[in-house]
Amino acid sequence: MTDEHILLSHAVEQSACAVIITDVKGTIEYVNKKFSQLTGYAKEEAMGQNPRILKSGEMPQEEYKNLWDTITSGKDWNGEFHNKKKDGGYYWTHAKISPVRNKAGTITHFVGIQEDITSFKLLHRDFHNIVARSADGIIVVDVQGTVRFANPMAGIALGSSPEKIVGSSFGIPVVSGEVAEIDIKRADSALGIAELRAADTEWEGRKALLVMIRDVTDRKLMENKIHRMAYYDVLTGLPNRSSFDERFAMAIAWAGRHRKKVAVLFLDIDHFKHINDCFGHQEGDNFLKIVAHRLEKCVRGVDTVSRLGGDEFTVLLAEIASAEDIVKVVQKLLRVVKEPISLAGKEVCVSTSIGIAFYPENGTNAETLLKNADAAMYSAKKQGRNRYQFFNTSFAEQEGKDACTK
Ligand code: GH3
Ligand code: MG
Repeated sequence: MTDEHILLSHAVEQSACAVIITDVKGTIEYVNKKFSQLTGYAKEEAMGQNPRILKSGEMPQEEYKNLWDTITSGKDWNGEFHNKKKDGGYYWTHAKISPVRNKAGTITHFVGIQEDITSFKLLHRDFHNIVARSADGIIVVDVQGTVRFANPMAGIALGSSPEKIVGSSFGIPVVSGEVAEIDIKRADSALGIAELRAADTEWEGRKALLVMIRDVTDRKLMENKIHRMAYYDVLTGLPNRSSFDERFAMAIAWAGRHRKKVAVLFLDIDHFKHINDCFGHQEGDNFLKIVAHRLEKCVRGVDTVSRLGGDEFTVLLAEIASAEDIVKVVQKLLRVVKEPISLAGKEVCVSTSIGIAFYPENGTNAETLLKNADAAMYSAKKQGRNRYQFFNTSFAEQEGKDACTK
Protein backbone atom coordinates (compact mmCIF):
# COMPACT_ATOMS: atom_id res chain seq x y z
CA MET A 1 0.00 0.00 0.00
CA THR A 2 1.27 3.39 -0.88
CA ASP A 3 1.20 6.24 1.65
CA GLU A 4 -1.68 7.67 -0.27
CA HIS A 5 -3.65 4.42 0.04
CA ILE A 6 -2.97 4.26 3.76
CA LEU A 7 -4.11 7.85 4.21
CA LEU A 8 -7.25 7.19 2.20
CA SER A 9 -8.04 4.05 4.15
CA HIS A 10 -7.65 5.91 7.49
CA ALA A 11 -9.80 8.78 6.24
CA VAL A 12 -12.63 6.42 5.23
CA GLU A 13 -12.33 4.39 8.44
CA GLN A 14 -12.46 7.50 10.62
CA SER A 15 -15.03 9.41 8.58
CA ALA A 16 -17.92 11.14 10.42
CA CYS A 17 -20.22 9.49 7.84
CA ALA A 18 -21.08 5.80 7.78
CA VAL A 19 -19.41 4.18 4.78
CA ILE A 20 -20.51 0.89 3.31
CA ILE A 21 -19.04 -0.87 0.26
CA THR A 22 -20.80 -3.78 -1.42
CA ASP A 23 -20.09 -5.88 -4.43
CA VAL A 24 -22.38 -5.64 -7.46
CA LYS A 25 -24.80 -8.11 -5.89
CA GLY A 26 -25.06 -5.98 -2.78
CA THR A 27 -23.00 -8.16 -0.48
CA ILE A 28 -21.23 -6.05 2.11
CA GLU A 29 -17.44 -6.08 1.76
CA TYR A 30 -16.56 -3.15 3.96
CA VAL A 31 -18.13 -0.95 6.63
CA ASN A 32 -16.31 1.73 8.62
CA LYS A 33 -16.35 2.50 12.34
CA LYS A 34 -19.16 5.04 12.09
CA PHE A 35 -21.36 2.42 10.38
CA SER A 36 -20.94 0.12 13.39
CA GLN A 37 -21.63 2.96 15.82
CA LEU A 38 -24.74 3.95 13.94
CA THR A 39 -26.26 0.52 13.25
CA GLY A 40 -24.92 -1.52 16.17
CA TYR A 41 -23.54 -4.16 13.76
CA ALA A 42 -19.83 -4.88 14.29
CA LYS A 43 -17.64 -5.04 11.22
CA GLU A 44 -17.53 -8.86 11.32
CA GLU A 45 -21.32 -9.10 11.65
CA ALA A 46 -21.93 -6.80 8.68
CA MET A 47 -19.43 -8.39 6.33
CA GLY A 48 -21.03 -10.84 3.92
CA GLN A 49 -24.54 -9.57 4.73
CA ASN A 50 -26.85 -7.64 2.44
CA PRO A 51 -27.80 -4.09 3.50
CA ARG A 52 -31.41 -5.23 3.60
CA ILE A 53 -30.66 -6.31 7.21
CA LEU A 54 -31.13 -2.60 7.95
CA LYS A 55 -34.60 -2.34 6.42
CA SER A 56 -37.13 -0.81 8.76
CA GLY A 57 -40.17 -1.67 6.69
CA GLU A 58 -41.10 2.00 6.81
CA MET A 59 -39.92 2.77 3.28
CA PRO A 60 -41.91 1.89 0.17
CA GLN A 61 -40.61 -1.00 -1.87
CA GLU A 62 -40.49 1.14 -5.05
CA GLU A 63 -37.87 3.31 -3.43
CA TYR A 64 -35.45 0.37 -3.14
CA LYS A 65 -36.19 -0.61 -6.71
CA ASN A 66 -35.53 2.91 -7.90
CA LEU A 67 -32.25 2.93 -5.93
CA TRP A 68 -31.11 -0.34 -7.42
CA ASP A 69 -32.12 0.65 -10.97
CA THR A 70 -30.23 3.93 -10.63
CA ILE A 71 -26.95 2.54 -9.35
CA THR A 72 -26.88 -0.50 -11.64
CA SER A 73 -27.38 1.87 -14.56
CA GLY A 74 -24.17 3.60 -13.43
CA LYS A 75 -25.67 6.67 -11.81
CA ASP A 76 -25.51 8.05 -8.28
CA TRP A 77 -28.52 7.71 -6.03
CA ASN A 78 -29.30 10.37 -3.44
CA GLY A 79 -31.96 9.95 -0.84
CA GLU A 80 -32.96 9.28 2.72
CA PHE A 81 -33.11 6.01 4.59
CA HIS A 82 -35.31 5.23 7.52
CA ASN A 83 -33.48 2.19 8.87
CA LYS A 84 -33.48 -0.23 11.76
CA LYS A 85 -30.50 -0.79 14.04
CA LYS A 86 -29.41 -4.17 15.36
CA ASP A 87 -31.20 -3.44 18.66
CA GLY A 88 -34.46 -2.59 16.85
CA GLY A 89 -34.14 1.18 17.25
CA TYR A 90 -34.66 3.42 14.25
CA TYR A 91 -32.35 5.92 12.61
CA TRP A 92 -32.49 8.18 9.60
CA THR A 93 -29.66 8.92 7.20
CA HIS A 94 -29.10 11.08 4.21
CA ALA A 95 -27.33 8.78 1.75
CA LYS A 96 -25.43 8.90 -1.47
CA ILE A 97 -24.77 5.59 -3.20
CA SER A 98 -22.38 5.54 -6.14
CA PRO A 99 -21.15 2.81 -8.43
CA VAL A 100 -17.39 2.11 -8.38
CA ARG A 101 -15.79 1.12 -11.69
CA ASN A 102 -12.54 -0.67 -12.43
CA LYS A 103 -10.04 0.54 -14.99
CA ALA A 104 -12.03 -1.14 -17.76
CA GLY A 105 -15.06 0.90 -16.72
CA THR A 106 -17.00 -2.07 -15.37
CA ILE A 107 -18.98 -1.58 -12.18
CA THR A 108 -17.40 -3.76 -9.53
CA HIS A 109 -18.72 -2.24 -6.30
CA PHE A 110 -21.13 0.25 -4.81
CA VAL A 111 -20.12 2.70 -2.12
CA GLY A 112 -22.68 4.23 0.17
CA ILE A 113 -21.95 7.28 2.29
CA GLN A 114 -24.57 8.02 4.93
CA GLU A 115 -24.94 11.00 7.19
CA ASP A 116 -26.88 10.46 10.40
CA ILE A 117 -29.86 12.85 10.41
CA THR A 118 -31.84 11.13 13.18
CA SER A 119 -31.80 14.01 15.65
CA PHE A 120 -32.87 16.45 12.94
CA LYS A 121 -35.69 14.11 11.86
CA LEU A 122 -36.90 13.62 15.43
CA LEU A 123 -36.83 17.35 16.06
CA HIS A 124 -38.73 17.92 12.84
CA ARG A 125 -41.30 15.29 13.81
CA ASP A 126 -41.70 16.76 17.31
CA PHE A 127 -42.23 20.25 15.91
CA HIS A 128 -44.65 18.87 13.36
CA ASN A 129 -46.64 17.17 16.14
CA ILE A 130 -46.69 20.31 18.26
CA VAL A 131 -47.87 22.46 15.36
CA ALA A 132 -50.44 19.83 14.33
CA ARG A 133 -51.88 19.70 17.83
CA SER A 134 -51.84 23.47 18.39
CA ALA A 135 -55.15 24.92 19.54
CA ASP A 136 -54.28 27.97 17.43
CA GLY A 137 -54.41 27.99 13.67
CA ILE A 138 -50.94 28.50 12.17
CA ILE A 139 -50.46 29.70 8.62
CA VAL A 140 -47.43 30.83 6.66
CA VAL A 141 -48.08 33.22 3.78
CA ASP A 142 -45.37 34.12 1.28
CA VAL A 143 -44.78 37.60 -0.12
CA GLN A 144 -47.10 36.85 -3.06
CA GLY A 145 -49.92 36.18 -0.57
CA THR A 146 -49.93 32.42 -1.23
CA VAL A 147 -50.38 30.09 1.72
CA ARG A 148 -47.28 27.90 2.08
CA PHE A 149 -48.20 26.10 5.28
CA ALA A 150 -51.37 25.54 7.31
CA ASN A 151 -51.92 23.35 10.36
CA PRO A 152 -55.17 21.40 10.99
CA MET A 153 -56.60 24.09 13.28
CA ALA A 154 -56.15 26.71 10.57
CA GLY A 155 -58.07 24.40 8.27
CA ILE A 156 -60.98 24.15 10.72
CA ALA A 157 -61.03 27.91 11.40
CA LEU A 158 -61.16 28.74 7.69
CA GLY A 159 -63.79 26.07 7.02
CA SER A 160 -61.42 24.03 4.86
CA SER A 161 -58.44 21.69 5.20
CA PRO A 162 -54.68 22.38 5.28
CA GLU A 163 -54.30 20.54 1.95
CA LYS A 164 -56.81 22.85 0.26
CA ILE A 165 -55.48 26.03 1.85
CA VAL A 166 -51.84 25.44 0.98
CA GLY A 167 -51.20 26.86 -2.47
CA SER A 168 -54.28 29.09 -2.42
CA SER A 169 -54.33 32.84 -1.96
CA PHE A 170 -54.73 33.83 1.72
CA GLY A 171 -57.11 36.66 0.89
CA ILE A 172 -57.36 38.18 4.39
CA PRO A 173 -55.52 41.49 4.71
CA VAL A 174 -53.05 41.16 7.60
CA VAL A 175 -50.12 43.35 8.57
CA SER A 176 -47.15 42.21 10.62
CA GLY A 177 -47.50 43.27 14.25
CA GLU A 178 -51.22 44.03 13.96
CA VAL A 179 -54.26 42.15 15.18
CA ALA A 180 -57.37 41.61 13.07
CA GLU A 181 -60.68 39.92 13.84
CA ILE A 182 -62.44 37.46 11.57
CA ASP A 183 -65.49 35.22 11.68
CA ILE A 184 -64.53 31.56 11.84
CA LYS A 185 -66.01 28.10 11.93
CA ARG A 186 -65.34 26.26 15.17
CA ALA A 187 -64.58 22.54 15.53
CA ASP A 188 -68.31 21.89 16.17
CA SER A 189 -69.16 23.89 12.98
CA ALA A 190 -70.70 26.73 15.02
CA LEU A 191 -69.68 30.25 14.02
CA GLY A 192 -67.14 32.04 16.17
CA ILE A 193 -64.71 34.93 16.29
CA ALA A 194 -60.95 34.67 15.92
CA GLU A 195 -58.08 37.06 16.36
CA LEU A 196 -55.43 37.05 13.65
CA ARG A 197 -51.92 38.03 14.63
CA ALA A 198 -49.26 38.37 11.99
CA ALA A 199 -45.50 38.38 12.43
CA ASP A 200 -42.56 38.40 10.04
CA THR A 201 -40.95 35.02 9.48
CA GLU A 202 -39.09 33.04 6.82
CA TRP A 203 -40.22 30.11 4.73
CA GLU A 204 -37.67 28.12 2.78
CA GLY A 205 -35.19 30.94 3.17
CA ARG A 206 -37.51 33.69 1.92
CA LYS A 207 -39.42 36.41 3.74
CA ALA A 208 -42.92 35.34 4.76
CA LEU A 209 -45.70 36.15 7.20
CA LEU A 210 -46.61 33.90 10.11
CA VAL A 211 -50.33 34.21 10.85
CA MET A 212 -51.71 32.85 14.10
CA ILE A 213 -55.47 32.33 14.29
CA ARG A 214 -56.81 32.24 17.84
CA ASP A 215 -60.41 31.36 18.57
CA VAL A 216 -61.58 34.07 21.00
CA THR A 217 -65.30 33.24 20.87
CA ASP A 218 -65.52 32.09 24.49
CA ARG A 219 -63.54 35.09 25.69
CA LYS A 220 -65.79 37.45 23.72
CA LEU A 221 -68.92 35.81 25.11
CA MET A 222 -67.53 36.13 28.61
CA GLU A 223 -66.59 39.76 28.02
CA ASN A 224 -70.10 40.47 26.76
CA LYS A 225 -71.56 38.74 29.77
CA ILE A 226 -69.36 40.71 32.16
CA HIS A 227 -70.24 43.90 30.29
CA ARG A 228 -73.94 43.10 30.56
CA MET A 229 -73.62 42.31 34.25
CA ALA A 230 -71.71 45.54 34.87
CA TYR A 231 -73.97 47.81 32.83
CA TYR A 232 -77.38 46.15 32.65
CA ASP A 233 -80.00 45.21 35.17
CA VAL A 234 -80.21 41.42 35.36
CA LEU A 235 -83.99 41.32 35.94
CA THR A 236 -85.26 43.69 33.25
CA GLY A 237 -82.28 43.92 30.87
CA LEU A 238 -82.48 47.72 31.09
CA PRO A 239 -79.33 49.80 31.61
CA ASN A 240 -78.48 49.82 35.33
CA ARG A 241 -77.41 52.61 37.65
CA SER A 242 -73.76 52.65 36.43
CA SER A 243 -74.88 52.79 32.84
CA PHE A 244 -77.42 55.49 33.62
CA ASP A 245 -74.80 57.62 35.43
CA GLU A 246 -72.44 57.36 32.46
CA ARG A 247 -75.10 58.19 29.88
CA PHE A 248 -76.50 61.02 31.99
CA ALA A 249 -73.06 62.63 32.35
CA MET A 250 -72.52 62.34 28.60
CA ALA A 251 -75.96 63.79 27.80
CA ILE A 252 -75.31 66.76 30.10
CA ALA A 253 -71.89 67.41 28.55
CA TRP A 254 -73.38 67.25 25.05
CA ALA A 255 -76.34 69.51 26.00
CA GLY A 256 -73.90 72.00 27.59
CA ARG A 257 -71.91 72.25 24.37
CA HIS A 258 -75.00 72.55 22.17
CA ARG A 259 -77.11 74.70 24.50
CA LYS A 260 -79.83 72.06 24.73
CA LYS A 261 -81.94 70.74 27.56
CA VAL A 262 -81.91 67.30 29.14
CA ALA A 263 -84.73 66.02 31.32
CA VAL A 264 -84.48 63.27 33.86
CA LEU A 265 -87.66 61.57 35.02
CA PHE A 266 -87.67 59.63 38.29
CA LEU A 267 -90.40 56.98 38.43
CA ASP A 268 -91.43 54.94 41.42
CA ILE A 269 -94.29 52.45 41.19
CA ASP A 270 -97.16 53.24 43.54
CA HIS A 271 -97.80 50.71 46.31
CA PHE A 272 -95.63 48.11 44.65
CA LYS A 273 -95.26 46.31 47.96
CA HIS A 274 -98.91 45.24 47.58
CA ILE A 275 -98.02 43.39 44.40
CA ASN A 276 -95.32 41.44 46.18
CA ASP A 277 -97.56 40.85 49.18
CA CYS A 278 -100.54 39.66 47.12
CA PHE A 279 -98.82 37.74 44.32
CA GLY A 280 -95.40 36.88 45.69
CA HIS A 281 -91.93 38.09 44.76
CA GLN A 282 -91.80 36.08 41.54
CA GLU A 283 -94.91 37.75 40.13
CA GLY A 284 -93.55 41.06 41.43
CA ASP A 285 -90.49 40.45 39.26
CA ASN A 286 -92.68 39.69 36.26
CA PHE A 287 -94.56 42.91 36.87
CA LEU A 288 -91.28 44.89 36.89
CA LYS A 289 -90.19 43.25 33.63
CA ILE A 290 -93.49 44.14 31.92
CA VAL A 291 -93.33 47.74 33.16
CA ALA A 292 -89.71 48.04 31.99
CA HIS A 293 -90.71 46.85 28.54
CA ARG A 294 -93.61 49.30 28.35
CA LEU A 295 -91.50 52.26 29.46
CA GLU A 296 -88.87 51.49 26.83
CA LYS A 297 -91.51 51.55 24.11
CA CYS A 298 -92.52 55.12 25.02
CA VAL A 299 -89.18 56.76 24.26
CA ARG A 300 -86.99 57.55 21.26
CA GLY A 301 -83.66 55.93 20.44
CA VAL A 302 -81.71 58.85 21.92
CA ASP A 303 -83.49 58.49 25.27
CA THR A 304 -82.55 56.02 27.99
CA VAL A 305 -84.79 54.07 30.35
CA SER A 306 -82.91 52.59 33.29
CA ARG A 307 -83.76 50.66 36.39
CA LEU A 308 -82.07 52.12 39.44
CA GLY A 309 -83.24 49.27 41.67
CA GLY A 310 -86.43 48.05 43.42
CA ASP A 311 -89.43 49.69 41.74
CA GLU A 312 -87.48 52.80 40.75
CA PHE A 313 -86.87 53.68 37.11
CA THR A 314 -85.36 56.70 35.41
CA VAL A 315 -85.96 58.05 31.95
CA LEU A 316 -83.37 60.30 30.38
CA LEU A 317 -84.82 62.54 27.68
CA ALA A 318 -82.04 63.98 25.57
CA GLU A 319 -82.28 66.92 23.17
CA ILE A 320 -85.48 68.34 24.68
CA ALA A 321 -86.91 71.42 22.99
CA SER A 322 -89.62 72.42 25.51
CA ALA A 323 -91.43 71.49 28.72
CA GLU A 324 -94.46 70.50 26.60
CA ASP A 325 -92.38 67.77 24.97
CA ILE A 326 -91.60 66.40 28.39
CA VAL A 327 -95.24 66.48 29.47
CA LYS A 328 -96.30 64.51 26.41
CA VAL A 329 -93.82 61.74 27.22
CA VAL A 330 -94.67 61.77 30.90
CA GLN A 331 -98.40 61.43 30.24
CA LYS A 332 -97.69 58.51 27.96
CA LEU A 333 -95.56 56.89 30.66
CA LEU A 334 -98.28 57.30 33.29
CA ARG A 335 -100.80 55.80 30.88
CA VAL A 336 -98.77 52.74 29.85
CA VAL A 337 -97.86 51.78 33.41
CA LYS A 338 -101.55 51.91 34.35
CA GLU A 339 -102.67 49.56 31.64
CA PRO A 340 -103.80 46.24 33.17
CA ILE A 341 -101.16 43.60 33.75
CA SER A 342 -102.05 39.95 34.10
CA LEU A 343 -100.48 38.38 37.21
CA ALA A 344 -101.29 34.82 38.26
CA GLY A 345 -104.39 34.92 36.05
CA LYS A 346 -105.66 38.19 37.53
CA GLU A 347 -105.69 41.62 35.94
CA VAL A 348 -104.02 44.29 38.06
CA CYS A 349 -103.77 48.03 37.47
CA VAL A 350 -100.95 49.89 39.15
CA SER A 351 -99.98 53.53 38.82
CA THR A 352 -96.67 55.33 39.08
CA SER A 353 -95.45 58.70 40.34
CA ILE A 354 -92.96 60.71 38.33
CA GLY A 355 -90.64 63.52 39.35
CA ILE A 356 -89.00 65.68 36.69
CA ALA A 357 -85.85 67.77 36.74
CA PHE A 358 -84.12 69.27 33.78
CA TYR A 359 -80.78 70.64 32.79
CA PRO A 360 -79.67 73.34 33.12
CA GLU A 361 -82.52 74.94 35.13
CA ASN A 362 -82.69 72.38 37.98
CA GLY A 363 -79.01 71.50 38.24
CA THR A 364 -75.83 71.36 36.23
CA ASN A 365 -74.59 67.93 37.26
CA ALA A 366 -76.10 64.45 37.16
CA GLU A 367 -76.10 63.93 40.90
CA THR A 368 -78.04 67.14 41.67
CA LEU A 369 -80.48 66.60 38.84
CA LEU A 370 -81.26 63.04 39.93
CA LYS A 371 -81.66 64.12 43.55
CA ASN A 372 -84.03 66.89 42.47
CA ALA A 373 -86.05 64.55 40.23
CA ASP A 374 -86.31 62.18 43.23
CA ALA A 375 -87.51 65.07 45.43
CA ALA A 376 -90.14 65.97 42.79
CA MET A 377 -91.27 62.32 42.67
CA TYR A 378 -91.58 62.32 46.44
CA SER A 379 -93.79 65.39 46.18
CA ALA A 380 -95.97 63.63 43.55
CA LYS A 381 -96.39 60.72 45.99
CA LYS A 382 -97.41 63.13 48.74
CA GLN A 383 -99.98 64.74 46.49
CA GLY A 384 -101.76 61.40 46.06
CA ARG A 385 -99.58 59.43 43.58
CA ASN A 386 -100.44 58.55 39.94
CA ARG A 387 -99.16 61.93 38.78
CA TYR A 388 -96.10 63.83 37.70
CA GLN A 389 -94.39 66.78 39.32
CA PHE A 390 -91.74 69.16 38.00
CA PHE A 391 -88.96 70.00 40.41
CA ASN A 392 -89.44 73.17 42.37
CA THR A 393 -86.78 74.69 44.62
CA SER A 394 -89.26 74.55 47.52
CA PHE A 395 -88.95 70.72 47.45
CA ALA A 396 -85.30 71.03 48.29
CA GLU A 397 -86.17 73.37 51.20
CA GLN A 398 -88.90 70.94 52.25
CA GLU A 399 -86.43 68.07 52.16
CA GLY A 400 -84.13 70.06 54.41
CA LYS A 401 -86.97 70.65 56.91
CA ASP A 402 -87.98 66.96 56.84
CA ALA A 403 -84.41 66.00 57.55
CA CYS A 404 -84.32 68.39 60.55
CA THR A 405 -87.54 67.12 62.03
CA LYS A 406 -86.63 63.41 61.68
P1 GH3 B 1 -94.82 53.79 47.24
O1 GH3 B 1 -96.08 54.07 46.52
O2 GH3 B 1 -94.61 54.71 48.39
O3 GH3 B 1 -93.64 53.74 46.36
O4 GH3 B 1 -95.04 52.37 47.88
P2 GH3 B 1 -94.32 51.03 47.52
O5 GH3 B 1 -95.10 49.92 48.10
O6 GH3 B 1 -94.05 50.94 46.07
O7 GH3 B 1 -93.00 51.21 48.36
P3 GH3 B 1 -91.51 51.29 47.85
O8 GH3 B 1 -91.42 51.90 46.52
O9 GH3 B 1 -90.72 51.96 48.96
O10 GH3 B 1 -91.07 49.80 47.85
C1 GH3 B 1 -90.60 49.12 46.76
C2 GH3 B 1 -90.64 47.63 47.07
O11 GH3 B 1 -90.10 46.90 46.01
C3 GH3 B 1 -89.81 47.23 48.28
C4 GH3 B 1 -89.27 45.85 47.96
O12 GH3 B 1 -89.89 44.86 48.73
C5 GH3 B 1 -89.67 45.64 46.51
N1 GH3 B 1 -88.56 45.24 45.70
C6 GH3 B 1 -87.33 45.76 45.63
N2 GH3 B 1 -86.60 45.13 44.70
C7 GH3 B 1 -87.41 44.17 44.18
C8 GH3 B 1 -87.23 43.16 43.17
O13 GH3 B 1 -86.16 43.02 42.53
N3 GH3 B 1 -88.27 42.36 42.90
C9 GH3 B 1 -89.46 42.47 43.56
N4 GH3 B 1 -90.44 41.64 43.25
N5 GH3 B 1 -89.64 43.38 44.51
C10 GH3 B 1 -88.64 44.22 44.81
MG1 MG C 1 -92.87 52.33 45.04
